[in-house]
Amino acid sequence: MGRGQAFTDHRETEVVKTTTRTTVKPLSSSRETGWMWQARYLPLIILTVLFAGVLAALIGISVLLAQTTAKLNTCNAARPQGVTAAPTVTVGPTGPPVEPEEKLIYRLSEANEGILPTHYDLILQIHVPVTSAADEPIPVADRFTTKGSSVAITLRTTKANVTTITLHARHDVPEGSQSGHLQKFKEGAVTVTEKPISTKSKTIPVTSVEYLKADIIVIHLGEALTATTENITVEYSLKFEFEGFIGDDNEGLYRSQYKKGSDTKYLVTSHFQAYKARRAFPCFDEPGIRSTFTTTLRYPATFLMTRTNTAEVRPAQNWVAPNGTVLWKESVFERTKPMPVYLNAFLVSSADDFKANTVESDLNTPPLPISVIGNADIIAHGAYALAQSQAIMKELAKVYQEPYDWPKLDMVGVPDYNAGATENWGLVVYRESSLMYEPGVSTADQKRGVSAIVSHELSHMIFGNLLTTEWWGDVWLNEGFASYIEYRLMEAANPNWGTKYLFTYWTTKRALESDSQPTTHALHNPAVQTPAQIDAMFDVISYEKGAAVLHMMSGVMREPVFTAALVRYIDRMKGTGSVKYEDLLAELDNVVAPAESSFDLTTHMKNWILKAGYPVLTLTRSAANPGALSFKQTKFTLPIGANDTSIAPDATVWDIPFTLINGGVLGADAVSAAAERTCWLTARSAETLPDECSTVTDALASDDSYLFANVQQNGFYRVNYDRDNWDKIISALSKIDLGADAADFTILHDPISRGQLIDDAFNLAKIGLTPSADITKPGDYSIPMHLVDGYITTETKYGPLASALDNIRYLEQMLRGPTTYPPFSAYMTRLMTPLYESASPWDNAWTDAAEPNATPNSEETYDSVMFNNLIIETACFYEVDGCLKEAVRRFSAWLNLGPDQAFAPGNSSAPLNIIQTKSLALCYGMRSGSSAQWNDMKTLLINSTITNSNKLALLRGMACSDDDSRIEELLELSADGITIRAQDVGSAFSYIARFPKGHALAWNYLQKNWKTLARRSSIIADIGGSLKSNWQLAQLRELYEVALDGKEPRDVPEAAAFERAIARVETNILWTSKYAAQVASLVKTLRQPNP
Ligand SMILES: [Zn+2]
Repeated sequence: MGRGQAFTDHRETEVVKTTTRTTVKPLSSSRETGWMWQARYLPLIILTVLFAGVLAALIGISVLLAQTTAKLNTCNAARPQGVTAAPTVTVGPTGPPVEPEEKLIYRLSEANEGILPTHYDLILQIHVPVTSAADEPIPVADRFTTKGSSVAITLRTTKANVTTITLHARHDVPEGSQSGHLQKFKEGAVTVTEKPISTKSKTIPVTSVEYLKADIIVIHLGEALTATTENITVEYSLKFEFEGFIGDDNEGLYRSQYKKGSDTKYLVTSHFQAYKARRAFPCFDEPGIRSTFTTTLRYPATFLMTRTNTAEVRPAQNWVAPNGTVLWKESVFERTKPMPVYLNAFLVSSADDFKANTVESDLNTPPLPISVIGNADIIAHGAYALAQSQAIMKELAKVYQEPYDWPKLDMVGVPDYNAGATENWGLVVYRESSLMYEPGVSTADQKRGVSAIVSHELSHMIFGNLLTTEWWGDVWLNEGFASYIEYRLMEAANPNWGTKYLFTYWTTKRALESDSQPTTHALHNPAVQTPAQIDAMFDVISYEKGAAVLHMMSGVMREPVFTAALVRYIDRMKGTGSVKYEDLLAELDNVVAPAESSFDLTTHMKNWILKAGYPVLTLTRSAANPGALSFKQTKFTLPIGANDTSIAPDATVWDIPFTLINGGVLGADAVSAAAERTCWLTARSAETLPDECSTVTDALASDDSYLFANVQQNGFYRVNYDRDNWDKIISALSKIDLGADAADFTILHDPISRGQLIDDAFNLAKIGLTPSADITKPGDYSIPMHLVDGYITTETKYGPLASALDNIRYLEQMLRGPTTYPPFSAYMTRLMTPLYESASPWDNAWTDAAEPNATPNSEETYDSVMFNNLIIETACFYEVDGCLKEAVRRFSAWLNLGPDQAFAPGNSSAPLNIIQTKSLALCYGMRSGSSAQWNDMKTLLINSTITNSNKLALLRGMACSDDDSRIEELLELSADGITIRAQDVGSAFSYIARFPKGHALAWNYLQKNWKTLARRSSIIADIGGSLKSNWQLAQLRELYEVALDGKEPRDVPEAAAFERAIARVETNILWTSKYAAQVASLVKTLRQPNP
């Protein structure tokens, strides 16, 4: 859709005259499926058509009435899974077949050549009571359904002789599903009507509805549809009357619940991305298919906080339902612009309990209403997100020269939401805790999290909504872009935070780690087909690698040129709205080519997009001729398997954008200048740099200093050097004065560089690539350990410190064992003590104003808060004496306040009101806490009146306990579905597994309770991936078999997480056998009084 395009006719409605009703359903009790069924019952179908046609024409709505009454009388118990009670008409039951046809169709484009849905008229009737009370007017039998709903899909075909229409509808209820979302089609309620062009409409007979796996249905027609040609447009209306379920599993259209006093109350919302729209209504549920939508919602009159993507055409009106017992309201919404179906969203909530905070933003003319909607008790905490959203939307529109062309923007926080948020156009739905920021209670990192997620979701308004990936195999075109842009939007809205340099720590580092796994995949992944495979694409590769590769393109082209190219890309593609990676590259080439004709970004970028993994570039300076630099590239992959040979050699050669700087060069400007001088290394190896690299070879002029490549980590690769160069870097870093003036800067003064060097060194050592001082030995850990040990006590920035401690955390997990752990933990105590003592880390004073540009205390940037917290967390973990004492003191003082005071927002009398460190005090105070203190904490945790995020903070503290029975108790509480919300179980297990004892107990619990746990993918990735022995690997494989339960991995949602975890454990086993003893003995030599 173009922004010049008019969508003025919002009231346009499709009038479809249905003269006959022609539905045939398979008999639900039949054991036969699909085609067999059709052949046998064909005569019956024809009869049925005639009969149903007569019935519908004669009594129309009374058929519906009769059915409703029948159900009221017969179904007042729990919802059945599949089939409803026998309807009153004689054409057979309405449910789907018990066994779906085995024929596999996963892509509509494969089945539906030429069919183009252009518009949906959707009517959803929401049968949800406001409370769980028995006297609610919604009949029990109808509760949590969308009975009475319909959708009429306008479509055309460009191909002749079309006699089938393939689309999605929920009918394939997974085993063990509690509620299901089965859609039942009424008798005679699937119709295809040729829409009137000049005279009158004509109904195309539907001969059967076929049900296939993955919620595909095929409508078989009795005659061919007429094709639309250049000269004539023929439109059809495919109409379903249906009834779906409003489940409680946070997927599709679902209900979320909250407490109001002693009442349990409901709201209805939705989460459709990526393929759950089909759970709510029959649709063409693929990202590359765009249509307009006109929605009507009918709901009990108490739910007056009702929203969807667009504004209401008129205020909600009373609506009279056939049974007349409920007071209904009806809201009709404006037609959307063309968009994929997954971007639809709904909120149906009580106007007493849910409130909107709205501003009229001057972003557009007329002003754009931007609202934060949330629970009235905490709506004030939405002020920060609301302020941020205005700054972010302005920056987005300015940078990409693309106004937000939509009538409103709502951001709603709901209590239960499986993701952090989803970018539904005009109605972004967030998990409540992702959107709300409570001054005086929330931490700096929570505040940063709100800004980051709002930035991410709002950047999707362009990258994701205006331009949508054509298929989920390229979801990086949505998610990589949003992840790339979120940081610049957050930075623009909070310029004082000092977070700009953290992009590579947050993004590139994570992506390099994930993309070194043998189970990784390419950004462009054409193999993606099944729902489980689609889910698996929403991962670190699509998000973080996608962002890092875009960052690399921007680094090569320079940011202003890259942004200009994106502006053209948006402008060129927004007409169709569906994008492929080739469209992006073509536009980038177009922008650069005229100025630099040899530049061919499409070729250079090919392997970064089409191939999994990335290279490590090894540079060796000739001792005889320091002006000559040889290089070679190899794929950087973690080994798996006992003998390290399981990985087939990968011959991929990446075009590496190469930058180089000499460590002797001084001045901050020299660093950025070096980052701009890029040349390409396109060979596997060479003895000297190519001629093209003459611009970077001045770095080789001085032979007494070190070289540093991949300046500011613009390129998505790792760098290895010869031993001499590493030694020079270690030496330079150990003498660095981080307080030096800008004029005295070297590359090592750039915190990006320090974090990058540390991360590269540890990861190179992990697979034996670091050059050893002893040439007869394979790579070892002396380089990364000396690099960190030599300087880290002088570090002042969060990014490099976190990079070091993240990598050391891997050592900590792998060295857990009777001979290796004691020397390692003793060393870490020696390392952390001076850091802790010099930093005064408990005394944070983060400025907590909610305004977007509130000036923080000049000394207390976000970076310094995070830096201090990391020091406390690590120092206490390794039992640095002063740290534990202070934690215990703060914890006891806090607990003595009593439950009322302990959670009083902004309570200035609270000694722990230094909120940034509260969770750390809870954790390490609890570790040595008494039984009485444990019981006090537990009472608070199960107290239903405290907020969910406070419960998680408590749980996080309690998870640090060192007592077996307490940890086991906590595992039970985490998984009971009552104490904390199911969406948070993954976080709870992750907290518990932080310490060795908790990890072991959580792993046992997981094996015993696999079938009943929520959030299993994240738990298996976290806990399973850090196992490290052969017998644990066997247990993990056994559990995988349980999870598969005889199915193909492509059909099991947790399969990708299991496969990644298994590969990680294989790497861990290999690592432990090679390096555990070595590292344990190395650390004994570091930081000893008399080494
Ligand atoms: Zn996203």
